[in-house]
Amino acid sequence: MRYQLAANSLDVDSYFQKIIGNKNLKTRAELMAVKVDVLALCKSYATILKGFHTPIEQAWTDKASEALKSCYAVNTKELSSHKDAILKSLQSQADINVQRCAYCMLNDPKTWDHYMPKDYFPEYSVYHENLLYICYGCNQRKSNYFDKNHLIYCHPYFTVDNEEALLHCKVTVNNGRLSIQYYGGGEGKFSQAGAIAHQHLDRLGLIERFKGEASSTVSGLIGELRQYYPGGVTQKALDGVLKRRYDEARDKLGCNAWDSRLWHGLAACPDFVVYANTKISRPGGPSSKGFRKSSPPAPP
Ligand SMILES: [Zn+2]
Repeated sequence: MRYQLAANSLDVDSYFQKIIGNKNLKTRAELMAVKVDVLALCKSYATILKGFHTPIEQAWTDKASEALKSCYAVNTKELSSHKDAILKSLQSQADINVQRCAYCMLNDPKTWDHYMPKDYFPEYSVYHENLLYICYGCNQRKSNYFDKNHLIYCHPYFTVDNEEALLHCKVTVNNGRLSIQYYGGGEGKFSQAGAIAHQHLDRLGLIERFKGEASSTVSGLIGELRQYYPGGVTQKALDGVLKRRYDEARDKLGCNAWDSRLWHGLAACPDFVVYANTKISRPGGPSSKGFRKSSPPAPP
C-alpha cells in the first residue's frame, strides 16, 4: 500500500464534458440529464472516503447507468487521453507512482481499478479519484467486491498516511530460524485506517507474498554482508546498513511499502545480528549473485 496525492491538476467538469461530447445522441442526452448529479457526487467523494465510509449507491435508471458505464467501457480518444493525464499527474509527483502497483507495491501497475466498482457506482466510472493504477493480480483479487458499511481496501489518496505506518513487519529469531510477520494496524486516530489496512492485506493475499519477497531480500542482504564483512558484522555496522536501507526505501517508496517495513523490522530485531553472523560464517550459504542490488553496505 502506498500514499499518493490525487491527480489534482484534473478538472472533472471539463473532462466529463469532453467524454460526453463524444457520445452518440441518445447516450449524450442520458448523460446530460444526470451530469449535475454526477458532478455533485464526485465532489463529495473525497469527504466520504476520508471519513472511511462507503458512498451510498444511487438509484440510477438502467439507461442512465449504462450511459455512465459506457463512458469508461468504450475506449475512445477522450478516455485514453484522460487516463494519460492521470498518469502524467501521478508521475509528476513521483516516478514510483507509475512503477509499482498502488495496492501491493510489488508488481508493475498495468491496469485501472475502479476503487468503488463501476457496476454499483457508475457515477465514478471515469472520476480520476476513483481510478487507481494497479497490477493485474490485485485487480483480479479485488474484483467487484465492496462492503456497503466500511471501506475494506486502502485508498492511496484517502486512507493511507504519508507519515504513519499502517503496515508493520515483525522479525524474530527462534531456534536459529528467522521469522518475518507482516500485519496491518494503527493506533489512536489511525485505528480505523489500520483496520482497513488489515483487511486490505488479507483480501489481496499480500501477507504471504510480502513474506516470500522479504525472505529473498534477507538472503540477498546476507550475501552482501558476507562480501563486505567476511569475518562477521558488528551490531553498529549492521545498524548503519539497515538504517540506510530504510531511509532509502522510505524516501523512494514511503513508509508503508513492504520493503521499507522489512528494513525497519530487521533493525528492530535484537537477535538479527547473531543470525546474520551465523549465516555469514556458514560455508556454501547463499551468495549475493543474482539478487536485486541496491546500494552496497558501507565498508568497515
Ligand atoms: Zn498489486
